[in-house]
Amino acid sequence: MNDRQYFDASSKLPTQQSYIHGRYHHSNTGQTFETIYPGNGEAICAVEAAGQADVDYAVESALEGFKIWSTTHAAARGKVLQRAAAILTERNMELAQLETLDTGKAISETSTVDILTGVEVMEYYAGIAAAIKGDHLDFPPNGFAVMKREPLGVCVGIGAWNYPIQIAMWKSSPALACGNSMIFKPSEYTPLSALKLAEIYSEAGLPAGVFNVVQGERETGSLLVDHPQVAKVSITGSVPTGKAVMAQSANTLKKVTLELGGKSPIIVFDDAQIDNAVNAIIPANFYSTGQVCSNGTRVFVQRGIYEQVLEQLVVDAKRIKIGDPFDPSVHMGPLSSNMQLEKVKAYLQAGRDSDARCLLDVDLSDSEFAAQGYFVGPAIFADCRDDMPFVAEEVFGPLMSVLPFDDEAEVIERANATELGLAGAVFTMDIARANRVANSLQAGSVWINDYHALPASVPFGGYKQSGQGRENGAAAIEHYTQVKMIYTNLGDVEATY
Ligand code: NAD
Repeated sequence: MNDRQYFDASSKLPTQQSYIHGRYHHSNTGQTFETIYPGNGEAICAVEAAGQADVDYAVESALEGFKIWSTTHAAARGKVLQRAAAILTERNMELAQLETLDTGKAISETSTVDILTGVEVMEYYAGIAAAIKGDHLDFPPNGFAVMKREPLGVCVGIGAWNYPIQIAMWKSSPALACGNSMIFKPSEYTPLSALKLAEIYSEAGLPAGVFNVVQGERETGSLLVDHPQVAKVSITGSVPTGKAVMAQSANTLKKVTLELGGKSPIIVFDDAQIDNAVNAIIPANFYSTGQVCSNGTRVFVQRGIYEQVLEQLVVDAKRIKIGDPFDPSVHMGPLSSNMQLEKVKAYLQAGRDSDARCLLDVDLSDSEFAAQGYFVGPAIFADCRDDMPFVAEEVFGPLMSVLPFDDEAEVIERANATELGLAGAVFTMDIARANRVANSLQAGSVWINDYHALPASVPFGGYKQSGQGRENGAAAIEHYTQVKMIYTNLGDVEATY
C-alpha cells in the first residue's frame, strides 16, 4: 500500500474554484464559502461559489462537450472511463486522504471503500458502454422500426457530503457511458474530491465540457435545476431537498433521479445465525459514523434471542475505536459538520430522555480530540418503540435503535410503517420465511442474511419517499437514455381519401 502522506489534519489549500471546459474557472460572483476539516473544526480553504454566469458557461461548455461525446463510438467512451478508473485506483491513497480531510471519515474506510467502490462502478460502465443497444421490430412486407437508445444531453449531478467522490463517480459513470455530458455540483460541505475527479477525467482523455464541476451551495444547485438546457437532474440528498428539486424540475419537465434518505429495518428471527446478524448490524449502524443513507437503523429482534443479541451488539460496538481519522487503526471519525453534530446530539439526548433502555452511550467528554472536532460516540438503545422520534426519523449518526417483536406478520407491518423505503434485511435460516419477508418489505434493496452487499451490477435506489429511479446496474442506463423509434417504409404510401 502507498502510505505516503499527501494530506493530513493540518493541510491548508488555496482557494478552490469550479472546473469547467477542461480547466479551473474563476467565478466573478465574489462569493466564497469555507470547507472545514471535521476533525478539528478548522477551515481547509475557501471555495468560490458559482453564480448565474458561471452556470450558463458550464451549460454552454457541456452542450459543446455533448456534441463531441454523443457522437464518439461507445467503445471509445468505455476506454476513457477505463483509463480514468485506472488513474483513480493508482491515486487511491492520495484521494482517500483528501476525502478524510474534507469529510472526517476514517482513513481505514476512505482508503478501502470510498474511491474503490466508485472505481468498481466506473469499470462496470466502461465494460458495458459498447453493449448499450436498442431494438428492432419487423412489420412485413414493407415496414420495420428501429428503437434507438439515445443520450439525454446535459445532465446535472448534485451530491451529498457523506460519500462525495463515490457519489460523483456513481452519477458520472453511467451518464458518460451513455454519451451524455454532466455538470456535477458537490455538496458545499465536501467540495474538494470532485475537482480531482474532473482533473482525472481530463487526464484520461475526456473531451473538454463533458464533465464540469460547479461549486456552490443550494442556490447554485437551484440555478442548475432551473436551467432550460439541462435535460436531467440526479440528486443524492435529503427528502425535503429531493422534493424541492423535483418540484423545480417540473417547470422545465426535466427527468429526475432522486437518491434520498432512509430508515431501514433489519429483522432478526429467533432461528438466525446470531454472529452473522451481529456482524452485519454493527457496520450497518456505525460505518461512516452512521452517515450512510441505507443504514439499517431500526433493528427488530425476535423475543427468543432478544437479550442474547443485545449483549453481543454491545460487546462488538465497544470494540469500535474512535479518534483521529488519519490514524489507520481508527474505525470511527467525527461527524461531517457542526450542523450534523448538533442534530445528532439532539437525537442522542432524546434517546437518553426516553424510556428506551440505553445499553451503550460512549462518553467522549474526557478525550482531547473530541473537544476540537465534531465527535460523538456510538449509542445503542433497546426496548425502543416505533413512534419514538429517534426511531422513526433519519438520524444520520451512530445511533442504533433495537425493537423487540413477536411474529412475522407483526414485524413486516412495523418495518413497512414508514414513508421511507431505501433498504432492509432479514436474518433467518428458514429460506421460505426469508423470501416471504424480503418480498413483503417495501424497499429498493433487501438482503437475506447480509447487509450492504452492493455489487456495481445491481440497481440501487428507493421505494416511497426514499427516491425515484435507480443508480448502478443496467437499470441506470434507462435513466440516462431516451428511446427514439424510427419507422421505415420500404413501399408506397397510399392516399388516405
Ligand atoms: P441535502 O439535501 O442538504 O443536500 C444535498 C445536495 O443538494 C447538496 O449539494 C446541496 O447543496 C443541494 N441542494 C440543496 N437544496 C437544493 C435545491 N433546492 N436545489 C438544488 N440543489 C440543492 O443533503 P445532505 O445533508 O448533503 O446529505 C444527507 C442526506 O442525503 C441524507 O438524508 C441521506 O440519507 C441522503 N443520502 C442518500 C443517499 C442515497 O443514495 N439514497 C446517499 C447518501 C446520502
